[in-house]
Amino acid sequence: SDSHFPIPITPSDFNYSLHFPHFSNVNSNSEGQQKDSPLLVRFADVGCGFGGLLVRLSPLFPTTLMLGMELRDKVTEYVKERISALRDANPGQYGNISVVRTNSMKYLPNYIGKAQLQKLFFLFPDPHFKEKNHRRRVISPHLLAEYAYVLAPGGIIYTLTDVEELGAWMEGCLDAHPLFEPLSEEEVCTDPVAAILDSATEEGQKVARNEGQTFRSVYRRRVLPPTE
Ligand code: SAM
Repeated sequence: SDSHFPIPITPSDFNYSLHFPHFSNVNSNSEGQQKDSPLLVRFADVGCGFGGLLVRLSPLFPTTLMLGMELRDKVTEYVKERISALRDANPGQYGNISVVRTNSMKYLPNYIGKAQLQKLFFLFPDPHFKEKNHRRRVISPHLLAEYAYVLAPGGIIYTLTDVEELGAWMEGCLDAHPLFEPLSEEEVCTDPVAAILDSATEEGQKVARNEGQTFRSVYRRRVLPPTE
């Protein structure tokens, strides 16, 4: 249960320098004085599973800090070890990715501040097929309000699933929310991140092996809700 992992009260209570020791949070200002600036995660992978997306994105955005959030303890430990082994084997690389064990549906704003994220990923979330369990889905009208809070205006939310009904549900929730708008077909086609989603994660590779179909949504966090 949640009582088994510590939960920061606010993002500034979380020690990000333990997660990203290769990134200094001390910058020099124009007068040469040292000043602290917080280490800010810009990409979050919710329900990151075995971490395939983080590992794939890390070298593509080497100066962007990325955090996986995963509920299962053993899976989180696996991702920690995977990242640590990659850092050891490739000096100077993979320092920008890390993972935390948490329940993102309850605690995302405890780790990430307002308008902090540039990208937020939900790849192959649990489908919760039964209607009475739809409220447990990781994309829902009330959770989208939280995602709008942590995303910067212009930030992108990516969802991917092999369950057609869930894909339609996620798209329906996003369409109905005033703070999200879909990227155009052209924007999605030219987005290098959208292109790798299918093959980046362990779940995606499994679906591809079985020649399954996937359903993707890519939406932008609006600056302001549309006016009537
Ligand atoms: N995204 C990965 C992939 O594509 O391979 C994993 C997909 S797996 C089907 C869904 C993952 O979400 C599981 O690892 C599960 O433990 C995690 N998960 C489910 N609910 C969660 C929550 N509330 N907070 C964090 N992780 C959660």
